[in-house]
Amino acid sequence: MYAGSIPTLASTFQRPRVIPVVLKFKPWVVASAGCGLAVYLASPPVGAGADHHLHLFSPVLADLLESRARGTDPELAALLDPVAFKTRSVEEVLSLLDESGLERGVLLSGAYMFSSPLLEDLDLDVPGLVRQENTHNVQAAASSGGRLVAFVGINPLEQGSLEELAFWVSHGGIAGIKLHLANSGFNFADPEHVRRLSAVFSAAADADLAVVVHLRSGPVYGAEEAQAFVDRVLPAAADIPVQLAHGGGWGGLDQGTLDALEVYVAAMERGAAGSRQLVIDLAMLTLGEETPLALREHAAALIRRAGLVRFVMGSDWPAVFRPQAHEAYLRQQLPLSDQEWDVIVGNKAPYLLTP
Ligand SMILES: [Zn+2]
Repeated sequence: MYAGSIPTLASTFQRPRVIPVVLKFKPWVVASAGCGLAVYLASPPVGAGADHHLHLFSPVLADLLESRARGTDPELAALLDPVAFKTRSVEEVLSLLDESGLERGVLLSGAYMFSSPLLEDLDLDVPGLVRQENTHNVQAAASSGGRLVAFVGINPLEQGSLEELAFWVSHGGIAGIKLHLANSGFNFADPEHVRRLSAVFSAAADADLAVVVHLRSGPVYGAEEAQAFVDRVLPAAADIPVQLAHGGGWGGLDQGTLDALEVYVAAMERGAAGSRQLVIDLAMLTLGEETPLALREHAAALIRRAGLVRFVMGSDWPAVFRPQAHEAYLRQQLPLSDQEWDVIVGNKAPYLLTP
């Protein structure tokens, strides 16, 4: 989601222009948005699906996000549902899966936020807080009876990121790492940034861990940035599973995100290095009715072109939607058939398929 958008909770701190649109599509609005949707909401599919994009904040991070949001833009923060900033329990995540008929969930640690340039005015104990936040997620997954997996969050541009990764590699109990390039202040035009990102992918590949990456780092984003990722970073992934968050964008669909998605789809089609286990999550791919139909149709066409198997569901909970409402919303937004949606909803990323 947007680098600065509070609804993602994955980054925060800049006024996002999309907020009023998001608010229109709060779950309760979606729940009353038509008879077709009512069917999905009333009877969640009983299946083996998964939510590939969930966040479970520790009390420390939840408090920081809330105070930061209120401090940066109190007017905006007042519009948001404060429940999004609450600390959640493992039981709550599991009942969230149950109500949506989902078997598995993917916890993406927001630990990278502590080393974000957006917070450098705070005098934080970054290594300590990063470890604590990652531990919170790993322990939650460990106590979930096998239904949740954890991805530890690191900032690829932070000095200590490879040490943090090495700790978890020896500790075990993680499915992979989560990167958020917007929150980390990543610049595709900076060769050193690209080199560091590639080094993190190499380290993940060496440890046989998956990577979930929020790639879009700013307003300037499209085919050029996506091609830089495909050519100069993705090959380092070798054969590990890689999941691009938010349809390869940052939440919300514009021409830049579509141009980037086209590059990722082309990479899959030609079997580019590192793309064998590449999947794309659809978390918050669109953010409102204002997204022109032509863009939504183009996105649907790209999904078909890549193959439905390449796309997985993820809600970005607790940003805006619960998983079931997010699914209903996407079904309304992207012109795919019910049968096609049923396939996508049942898909699991490769890292959930190995025992
Ligand atoms: Zn997220």
